[in-house]
Amino acid sequence: MMSEKGLLIVLSGPSGVGKGTVRKAIFEDNVDFEYSISMTSRNKREGEVDGVDYFFKTKEEFEKLIAEGELLEYAKYVDNYYGTPVKYVRETMDKGKDIFLEIEVQGAEQVKNKIPEALFIFLAPPSIFDLECRLKGRGTESEDIIRERISNAKKEIQMMYLYDYVVENDKVELAVERIKSIIKSEHLRRDRVEMKYRRALLELEEV
Ligand code: 5GP
Repeated sequence: MMSEKGLLIVLSGPSGVGKGTVRKAIFEDNVDFEYSISMTSRNKREGEVDGVDYFFKTKEEFEKLIAEGELLEYAKYVDNYYGTPVKYVRETMDKGKDIFLEIEVQGAEQVKNKIPEALFIFLAPPSIFDLECRLKGRGTESEDIIRERISNAKKEIQMMYLYDYVVENDKVELAVERIKSIIKSEHLRRDRVEMKYRRALLELEEV
């Protein structure tokens, strides 16, 4: 029987929300999806390993990869390039394995445009969830601080529209569990399961 294509899972969210920490915690356990190692033109930080944390490239090398169409998405973030090599993503999905991307929001938007059926998970700061209570409850903050918080929250909420799920990052372990259960449920979606059975039936009918 023709094997099912793997899922493309995209974890994104505002800068500083803890995407990297949550992603690392997810992959500390045994999971049955693969991590897509990104490419970047930023300098290697202490303790980082080329080919494990990132594929480290020069700006020129990165620009060549963009021109050659080797990236599924890429973005310039704090003056450096970050991007997802398309080949590994394709190969993994074609093998029927799920692949997991942890990328910033501009990149997630590009993936949404190219592969709208992917699974998009938005990691949100806990401050969004108790915003109202924090704003009204205390009355100790200056107008400026409150205004800035409202403006940040607005931006973050506006980013949510292209995602399927929103996960609060109140505690890393909780966020990890939520993400894992979303992925499990995604495999049980009626359209996915139905397609598999329809294909199997078709094959049976052919004999
Ligand atoms: P850092 O420099 O701290 O490792 O990562 C900075 C930001 O780049 C994080 O928000 C991370 O999610 C994002 N990032 C990492 N890899 C990629 C990628 O392949 N594409 C995009 N668009 N963003 C990425």
